[in-house]
Amino acid sequence: MSRIVYVDGAYVPEEDAKVSVFDRGFLFADGVYEVTSVLGGKLIDFDGHAARLERSLSELDMACPVTMDALLEIHRELVRLNALDDGLVYLQVTRGAAGDRDFEFPDADAVPSTIVLFTQAKPGLADSPKAKTGIKVISIPDIRWGRRDIKTVQLLYPAVGKMMAKKDGCDDAWMVEDGQVTEGTSNNAYIVKGRKIVTRHLSNDILHGITRAAVLRFAREAQMEVEERAFTIDEAQAADEAFITSASTFVMPVVEIDGHPLGDGSPGPVATRLREIYLDESRKSAV
Ligand code: PMP
Repeated sequence: MSRIVYVDGAYVPEEDAKVSVFDRGFLFADGVYEVTSVLGGKLIDFDGHAARLERSLSELDMACPVTMDALLEIHRELVRLNALDDGLVYLQVTRGAAGDRDFEFPDADAVPSTIVLFTQAKPGLADSPKAKTGIKVISIPDIRWGRRDIKTVQLLYPAVGKMMAKKDGCDDAWMVEDGQVTEGTSNNAYIVKGRKIVTRHLSNDILHGITRAAVLRFAREAQMEVEERAFTIDEAQAADEAFITSASTFVMPVVEIDGHPLGDGSPGPVATRLREIYLDESRKSAV
């Protein structure tokens, strides 16, 4: 059955959903996005994703074509129209189609932004078998641009990084800059030493994960110690545990880094507990 997707104000079957070849998202990766997970037909952390979208747009002087209230309604309507139980809602806003290829930004009053949303069904999203075994990561150099705090659709290097991991029989890659881990290709990275959780501090060097913010809040509420600072691959390999967070993986244990197993090579108690807390709390506040 074909999905119903949202394109510039209309709900249409996916076969009929079209964007111009002159769209700046296509020509220049001049666009931003968000991914919001859906559990039991409800949106997880919607307010955080909406707030980050507004920030990404404003950092790039891009207009938002809809209000945040309207955006919530569009998300809900897509979940309803597609009878989505567990899965994701993907949202992308680009600087529109100016009708020619020109580096200069077009006048926002003359060229409206493009907005597209679609759902992806992921039955059993919260019960991923990987959460029980943990994932393996490799390290790769972080050669992305310097504004990783803006959630742009320039995802070629993260895609290449995932392919490098796959080629090595691993699940993902952690990126390293100046000897320190920045983040995963599509997630934030953490290590655990004793009961202390260490994750890189916020700056323009990493995406300010919405799941990161929630998980750190829950960790502090559970009296776990949190240290926000950079760490090296050597330190990570010597840690007791490691994990990643993102809207689509929640809290996912990491059991191997560059071929080096962590602890006994199975998911650690801190990551396992944080995953439970995050899923419980997020389901409670889902909209
Ligand atoms: N870092 C990067 C580079 C990402 O692409 C993502 C997910 N899009 C994250 C971190 C995690 O962010 P969130 O928890 O908001 O999904």
